[in-house]
Amino acid sequence: MLGSFSTGKGFSTGDTMVRIPITRPDLGDEEKTAAARVIDSGWVTQGPKVVEFEETVARYVGSRHAIATTSCTTALHAALTVSGIGPGDEVILPSLSFIASANAVSYCGAKAVFVDIDPETCNIDPEKIEDAIGPKTRAIMPVHQMGLPADLDPIRDIAKKHNLLLIEDAACAIGSEYKGVRIGGHGSIACFSFHPRKIITTGEGGMITTDDALLAEKLKRFRHHGMSVSDIERHRANTVIVETYPELGYNYRMTDIQAAIGVEQMKKLPSILEKRRRRAERYNSGLWEIPHVRVPRIPSYARHNYQSYWIELKESAPVDRNTLMARLLERGIATRRGIMAIHREACYRDEAVKLPHTERMTDNTLLLPLYPSLTDTEQDYVIESIKQILGER
Ligand SMILES: *Cc1c(COP(=O)(O)O)cnc(C)c1O
Repeated sequence: MLGSFSTGKGFSTGDTMVRIPITRPDLGDEEKTAAARVIDSGWVTQGPKVVEFEETVARYVGSRHAIATTSCTTALHAALTVSGIGPGDEVILPSLSFIASANAVSYCGAKAVFVDIDPETCNIDPEKIEDAIGPKTRAIMPVHQMGLPADLDPIRDIAKKHNLLLIEDAACAIGSEYKGVRIGGHGSIACFSFHPRKIITTGEGGMITTDDALLAEKLKRFRHHGMSVSDIERHRANTVIVETYPELGYNYRMTDIQAAIGVEQMKKLPSILEKRRRRAERYNSGLWEIPHVRVPRIPSYARHNYQSYWIELKESAPVDRNTLMARLLERGIATRRGIMAIHREACYRDEAVKLPHTERMTDNTLLLPLYPSLTDTEQDYVIESIKQILGER
């Protein structure tokens, strides 16, 4: 097996080195050239490439506006603050998420209130949301975990009924669809990430999408210290413009070097999605028959981008999750534990909070290598290794 094993490019073939990483971004000459052009142009931040990237993403997801930021974390902070979330408010979200989801709520001085997930989807269980709503609740923040869309329709109905804001943590979800419409195109605020672990990357980077023109203007000021005019407006003006700072803002500005890379990544997105979906289907067909393993099942309302691919180890498995991960690493295969449970971390720990599905999934799932340049041979090696370790062959 190892003899025919393709190592790809850029990682060591040494015996103790990882041969198959958890992910590898799909970056190449197009991104290099685009970044170099921006450097040559002399306008490296908040210039025409940021605008082009914003317009490209808005058109793709089907929103009227898009506002680029430095990350999804800052995008969420901006979206929550500009929507009026502040001290004393509560925001409902799943605990099974990256800690950034809750941190953005904390930055506003608001309280993160955790709701359990549906273990089939790893997304917030709409039926459990209403129990968590109290007099201080201001917003619901569903997370499209690992790129799989949360069940937006019932969540939107609950938000309407209780007059709550809906802000989607779409960090992983670019290219995913809910009922045939791409995430970001559902009329609420959605925040995306372009970290290298996500579907497309700008190194670091984020994007907020919205249909609300007034909100979009406020967000653009918020990311630029509350400044009354944008750099582009000032640059293009024929007269001297003296800016003012009517409200508190932050420096959450994306650079044009990043945006130029983002524009190239958006061109590659359809082929990236196709490759990821094909890889996920190969995992499904290779792994579903192992009795100790549960593979993801995708609800009919969703089209998945497979930002991550998880498996759950059942109680019947001969080894636990961490042992399986260690054995895979010995074979040169990098994996990651499943998504963390935020309510178990020091900043958010609360013994009174009981989230049994979240706890089961965070303890027993692991993420497998999945990226566009993963080869059939490499993937077969991952599948065979799992079967061998679990005693199937
Ligand atoms: C990655 C991630 C974030 C944070 O994104 P950054 O761009 O790294 O700030 C937020 N929420 C979820 C669900 C994520 O997976």
